[in-house]
Amino acid sequence: MKKNFYLLFLLLFLVGTSAYTQTKDPVVESIVKEATENSQLEKLAHELLDKIGPRLVGSPKMQQANDWAVAKYTGWGIPARNEKWGEWRGWERGISHIDMVAPWVKSLEGTQLAWSPSTGGKTVTGDVIIVPDVADSVAFAAWLPNAKGKFVLISMNQPTGRPDYNWEEFGTKESFEKMKALRTVQTDAWTARIKKTGYTTRTLPVALEKAGAVGIVMSNWSRGFGVNKIFSAYTKKVPTVDVSLEDYGLLYRLTESGSGTKISVRADSKEKGVVPTYNTVAEIKGTNPNEYVMLSAHFDSWDGGTGATDNGTGTLVMMEAMRILKKVYPNPKRTILVGHWGSEEQGLNGSRAFVEDHPEIVANLQALFNQDNGTGRVVNISGQGYLHAYDFITRWLAAVPEDIKKGIETKFPGTPGGGGSDFASFVAVVAPGFSLSSLSWSYGNYTWHTNRDTYDKIVFDDVRNNAMLAAIMVYMACEDPQKTSREKSVLPATRTGEPGKWPEQRKATRKGGLD
Ligand SMILES: [Zn+2]
Repeated sequence: MKKNFYLLFLLLFLVGTSAYTQTKDPVVESIVKEATENSQLEKLAHELLDKIGPRLVGSPKMQQANDWAVAKYTGWGIPARNEKWGEWRGWERGISHIDMVAPWVKSLEGTQLAWSPSTGGKTVTGDVIIVPDVADSVAFAAWLPNAKGKFVLISMNQPTGRPDYNWEEFGTKESFEKMKALRTVQTDAWTARIKKTGYTTRTLPVALEKAGAVGIVMSNWSRGFGVNKIFSAYTKKVPTVDVSLEDYGLLYRLTESGSGTKISVRADSKEKGVVPTYNTVAEIKGTNPNEYVMLSAHFDSWDGGTGATDNGTGTLVMMEAMRILKKVYPNPKRTILVGHWGSEEQGLNGSRAFVEDHPEIVANLQALFNQDNGTGRVVNISGQGYLHAYDFITRWLAAVPEDIKKGIETKFPGTPGGGGSDFASFVAVVAPGFSLSSLSWSYGNYTWHTNRDTYDKIVFDDVRNNAMLAAIMVYMACEDPQKTSREKSVLPATRTGEPGKWPEQRKATRKGGLD
């Protein structure tokens, strides 16, 4: 009995130690400890998103963010630099005030689009009209003089301000179907209305301003409560403003019923000429300095909100991972680099430029991890079409504690991403770039490129999870005695039966926004 008890004890001890040695890598342990007990995420988020704000390419705030990141890395003992890769039209956002002044008074929720011309320090008041439904471009040309001195509404009036999920929850099946059918008919009619003018949504605002319109009013609803997507203006002299669905609907209905609708707009902004654009790059030198493991996230954003989840959260993940790695793994076997890219939003420009400018790094890249689809926990990793990605990614993921990786689905060999975010700039030259893809948290409707992409949408526990994951994957990729393989898998045939093609490298736009 006593002997059996001893044996049982010995067995338990052995089981315990083998489980211990499997999961407890001291560096992984330290990464988890530092990330959970000394997290800097909230502080970094506040400094970047609240104190600096949105990071539109060519804006002073983008430059401020680049300088802030260099200062942060320097403070952590990590050498960092801003690498110039191009030039952009410089523009600084000022105040936007949009008020309905007739038939009654109401301050409207809205903002000028990025790169919108200003009202020259004045408040401009004018009647509101709706772009007309004409027979053809000749009829539209004849109508155009009517735009003189007016604010022109150029978006469709949405039949509902309730998102579809709300209709699905509360509406009868019949009324939901009826609304959707009505919306389709209205949307098709609006598309036809714009087409009949002889212009596109891009050229119409310019035609209207040439005809003397004093401003363009639109509403790019993002199909959720309170959300609009805010992109760039096409006008060159008069402001283009985006107004919330609710206020746009009000203006539209009042204008349609001939109620004498007038608005006042003040849009301040400054043209800053042609300004340099940068990537911020930071580096922890490896004992084998000429092999690289990279972290990657674009740094720029649209400016309707503060770019909190696109891509503030990806930025925070990479900065926090770098900070932690420097503290707990200061002498990596390969060089760790982080790229905070400029102008992803206009076509992956910063990362494409880096790939063009640093062939020596790209050629010796062990792996790159990019994150850019919101605040959620990473739930998908694809092998991006590399035949042997399964081997090394699985090997590295094995070191990640279960808590952190339990939601992750992997796909091997996967298909090479042709765009969407900066990993694709690397995949295009057959370098091992991977995407740490997040759980949605209603990203597409509610935060991506919207006026509500702000600090409060960040789910810090998920971001913390991702910072640990990124740091552990980098650590494992640095330590791996094997170099990663770039052998491509045979891609599945296209729908038309042709052999699948690897995405092609596209050139960075080095001078933008100046047309
Ligand atoms: Zn993004």
